[in-house]
Amino acid sequence: MIEERTVQLQQCMYQYSRAIYRSIKDLVEPYADRRSQLDSRRAVLVACEQTMERLASDPLYFAKPERALFQDIRRHFPITAQAEVAWAVQKGVDAAVEFIEEQIESGVLDGGVARCRATTRKGKPCQRTPLPDRDYCPSHQHLETKAAA
Ligand SMILES: [Zn+2]
Repeated sequence: MIEERTVQLQQCMYQYSRAIYRSIKDLVEPYADRRSQLDSRRAVLVACEQTMERLASDPLYFAKPERALFQDIRRHFPITAQAEVAWAVQKGVDAAVEFIEEQIESGVLDGGVARCRATTRKGKPCQRTPLPDRDYCPSHQHLETKAAA
């Protein structure tokens, strides 16, 4: 079911964002007072989550997500930690992008929604939503029957 897949995808993206956060949270400005450290960590966590949410909902049009995330959070880290943070963000975002690309290739995701596999009479891909657990929409479901026979 599409809904289950979406929930699964969101859970996976949540794990990727936690992984990025965990890999950099201890690098947050070490000489700041405890209060600002907590604020910074919270801001970093939110930025990671927002980046992953945007990546999941708009995977094809989110250019350079690792750069966007690093720009968002770099001010929370000391100069000496910038390279390490950039590297951790790159690695974490790469893993998430790779996961999303696999989902798109396997047909689970197509900019967020599955599409019917048929081609219309005008030669354009059908834009309708497939039947549950099927590759084709109601008007094209006869194609699936033919392929299975
Ligand atoms: Zn169709």
